[in-house]
Amino acid sequence: MATLAGIPTARGLVAGPVFLYRGDGEIPVPEYVVEPGREEEEFRRFERAVVDTKRDLENLISVLRERTGRADVRVFECHLMFLEDPTFSDEIRSSVTKDHVNAEAAVKSFTDRMRVQFSRMNDPYFRERVRDFDDVERRLLMALTGFAPDTSLELKSPAIIVADDLTPSETVRLPRENVLGFATNGGSATSHVALLARAMAIPAVTGLVDITSRVRPGMTVILDGGTGEVTIAPNKETLDLYESRKRHRHNIEKAEPEGCPAGTFREGGEVKIFANIHPGVAVSGLRDLGARGVGLYRSEYLWLNREREPTEEEQFEAYREAVEQTAKLSADASITIRALDIGGDKTVKGISAKESNPFLGNRSIRYLLSNREVFKTQLRAILRASAFGKVNTMYPMVSCVEELTEAAVVLEEVKRSLDKDGLAYDRNMPIGAMIEIPSAAINADAIATKVDFFSIGTNDLIQYTMAADRSNEAVAHLYQPTNPAILYLMRRVIAAAHNHGIPVAVCGESASDPILGVLWAAMGIDTLSMSGSYIPVIAKLLRRLSRTELDEYAALANGFDASATAKSVFDACHAWMLGKIPELDDLLA
Ligand code: PEP
Ligand code: MG
Repeated sequence: MATLAGIPTARGLVAGPVFLYRGDGEIPVPEYVVEPGREEEEFRRFERAVVDTKRDLENLISVLRERTGRADVRVFECHLMFLEDPTFSDEIRSSVTKDHVNAEAAVKSFTDRMRVQFSRMNDPYFRERVRDFDDVERRLLMALTGFAPDTSLELKSPAIIVADDLTPSETVRLPRENVLGFATNGGSATSHVALLARAMAIPAVTGLVDITSRVRPGMTVILDGGTGEVTIAPNKETLDLYESRKRHRHNIEKAEPEGCPAGTFREGGEVKIFANIHPGVAVSGLRDLGARGVGLYRSEYLWLNREREPTEEEQFEAYREAVEQTAKLSADASITIRALDIGGDKTVKGISAKESNPFLGNRSIRYLLSNREVFKTQLRAILRASAFGKVNTMYPMVSCVEELTEAAVVLEEVKRSLDKDGLAYDRNMPIGAMIEIPSAAINADAIATKVDFFSIGTNDLIQYTMAADRSNEAVAHLYQPTNPAILYLMRRVIAAAHNHGIPVAVCGESASDPILGVLWAAMGIDTLSMSGSYIPVIAKLLRRLSRTELDEYAALANGFDASATAKSVFDACHAWMLGKIPELDDLLA
């Protein structure tokens, strides 16, 4: 039995067998004859691949050392030594220069020979090293060919997926009914696999660094998405403890007072609690969880996993269904459809251009403004759906007012085309800006004059303010919602919205965090939008607090100056919440 500590990513406690997803389709190994005179060039290609592979391994080792302090970086150090071994590079040089074999084929032939030699050894330790050759060979071939494997997941019975990492496309392809949980080496609390796990109410732990090399298919693991712990091969005592914790949690989650809408404070006010969804998530289940509307509909999932763009008709059908379903959630329900948010880690085949830095590239609203036909088609479909219920549209990744001015021109043009075609739509459909780029937060006063509402995407706002990739576990510690710089921007955006009389929501994952979601409500956020499974806990916490207490909570966080650390602010917030709700940690467990 062993327990690993990762990043708590999506709440829930599960136990089950491991499905080890290696994402490792065969890497095609090209074989060709190196033309005379080009041998040096080919050998340099091999040397560059070695440098890249070594850099990846060194990063992995330093993450392992820093994050876990574990001694078992040894295996990766051996891989490094193998790459540095002069016999290895001499062998490849000789194959390339004397036999005119290309670099990939030379590497494959060398590792094949090593595998045969080692598998014949008597000592089981050395026989095991065959797997190390597989590993190093795979890394080198990937560096040489640029091949990114993508195999589909064949999951026939319920299991916990253990993987290096999963792309959004891989995640949405999973048969939901058989996925008990996710445990990944990479990722972070706000990576897209995390968002999907939450939207699908699947417990997940990310940032486990090397769990894929610690488990075998079929092995039992216990995964706690709330604490970030994964126990491998638990003994009987641990399994019994798991069963009793599971029963305890179930009882806590069940005990909800009747007839009190989610988001109501103990006295003196309320905040709207809405859900984040994407195409394919059933809206019906959200009612029981207490969602009063949909605050973020991630439309880009209509673009994933398909060979061509969705047509206007396909989009219209999807939006109309979501609009009609949302209307059943509450009397004042509305759905906020986010315009196509692609780029960064959300790449779409055939659309996403190759960019040297896609996170700072032609993404989201920028993409839509430079691909007007895609933008117009989507706006037509959304507007047509607005005839069937209360719909808002928001633009992702707004960075300056000009983008909103330009988008307004496109919107007017689309409205005219619908008028011409005699199609019904809501002429006053509210338009919002997502505030997730620091420039938009700093300039929120001006942005507020151009829109009907704000929705703060804290996942990206924190990523871009801290310059820390949200899906890179090595910098996950810099995802700091309570950093004074983030609190400053939050205050600024809320004040700008309210000065201009427009509502402001938070739809990033922090809305569902018990300490932060309540803090945003205390600071004046009008709507918290989160994955459905988190709503009951946030609603329960808000019901325990009065507006006066929330003002006290906001004053506490606002009392920290710029020199405070994110941890000191978070700890003070946690302590304050514990003072008001002594069983807080039980609720979160
Ligand atoms: C965010 O950035 O907080 C957000 C809600 O958008 P995304 O889909 O990028 O997480
Ligand atoms: Mg975002």
